[in-house]
Amino acid sequence: MIEVVEPATAQVMAEVPRAGVEETDAAVAAARAAFPAWRDVSPGDRAALLHRLADRIEEKSDALATLEARNAGKPISDARGEMSMVVDCFRYYAGAPERLLGHTIPVAGGVDMTFREALGVVGLITPWNFPLTIASWKVAPALAAGNTVVLKPAELTPLTSLELERIALDAGLPEGVLNVVAGPGSVCGSRLVEHPDVAKVAFTGSTEVGRSIAAGAAQTIKRVTLELGGKSANVIFADADIEAAAAAAPSAVFGNAGQDCCARSRILVERSAVDDFLAAMERAVTAMVVGDPLDEKTEMGPLISADQLETVGSYVPDDAPVAIRGSAPDGPGFWFAPTVLSPVSNSDRAAAEEIFGPVACVIPFADEAEAAAIANDTIYGLSGSVWTRDGAKALRMARAIETGVISINSNSSVRVTTPFGGFKQSGVGRELGPDALDHYTDVKNVYYRTDED
Ligand code: NDP
Repeated sequence: MIEVVEPATAQVMAEVPRAGVEETDAAVAAARAAFPAWRDVSPGDRAALLHRLADRIEEKSDALATLEARNAGKPISDARGEMSMVVDCFRYYAGAPERLLGHTIPVAGGVDMTFREALGVVGLITPWNFPLTIASWKVAPALAAGNTVVLKPAELTPLTSLELERIALDAGLPEGVLNVVAGPGSVCGSRLVEHPDVAKVAFTGSTEVGRSIAAGAAQTIKRVTLELGGKSANVIFADADIEAAAAAAPSAVFGNAGQDCCARSRILVERSAVDDFLAAMERAVTAMVVGDPLDEKTEMGPLISADQLETVGSYVPDDAPVAIRGSAPDGPGFWFAPTVLSPVSNSDRAAAEEIFGPVACVIPFADEAEAAAIANDTIYGLSGSVWTRDGAKALRMARAIETGVISINSNSSVRVTTPFGGFKQSGVGRELGPDALDHYTDVKNVYYRTDED
């Protein structure tokens, strides 16, 4: 059995059967058997089933939010927002089956047309930081495009994905269309990667595991999309609204206790504005409510596990330049107070590596060119922000920073309707928006000769 631990109390909250290779193979076989009929469900009927699934999730969203808040240690208000995104995601992709358009292409002698064909069985491997949300980003477009699914959630947070499997059956999705295997990544995840009947793997998690998935998938030329780590820059120029940038900066890095691939954990501040920025940020960080995830007022919960707590702590040794430290409860649970290090050099370990915890580095810069150079001096390229009142400078920076997603005078990264994914070692492919469907279909070209000779 998997003992599922509640991070706020360090107590076991549930036990679920642990899947292994046999269960993974059985899930792949079920998905393979269900594929031909699911692919052939008419577009309108597939859309209706996805709408019904969205409705059922919405009906259960309070219970799902509580389960996610307890299992992932996230504030209940965040978990509710996430469940509403899950519903929106299924509704958005419910529009896709009837809009999977191809081309007609002018050619000599006949007619040429393209079709976007489903891939078959897709293996979806998801992390523990946004369990059901990230699952929905993959499951919804995969099903909409006519694929069948084997979803492997992280062992630390399998509960809402297992619920999703039950809800899908209840909503009328045929048996075998959506299968969930809860088991270790090194067993069930790697089996999906090597399995000859799995056409594609979509993965979110660490860059290290992403690398091994890309290598493993090469053996069967599987399609792969990878959404990996980040070390995103939040670039704040002296001409920005410093109060607004400083008020927004904590949630952009301490949201989900920093366990967010989009966390803006490198805060680049123009040198002349550093003192004003830190003073304003201190007010915001010390006001953050850190505590019981089920309390309505909580803004940040615990880390996911004792291991994660130890890893995050290693980035803040006794001689670290701690400029600001917020609060965290004592007692059981994996708590770490929001922490701002300043000044930090971009080559310091805390600025170079993805910490995945509530630790931010403030890095001063002299001018636009230096800001872009520091922002790009990383193996990652997932997200980021630019704060300035100079519109042309904002757009120059947005184009200069090597990243898949960037916001101006805002720290938003993810929307159901817009593409999300990384440059460089932050990943391959795009989730969400119209682009995700490209990664769950292959293009078929059909030529039909019409000339008589
Ligand atoms: P992992 O990359 O190990 O886990 C992500 C998913 O991959 C989980 O479902 C995991 O399963 C699975 N997995 C693990 N090993 C394999 C494998 N060999 N083959 C196939 N699937 C596998 O992340 P961790 O949980 O270990 O977190 C470590 C670090 O990764 C974090 O500190 C953070 O830096 C980064 N991370 C980034 C995320 C993001 O959103 N980009 C999300 C999570 C982590 P299981 O856990 O059940 O073994």
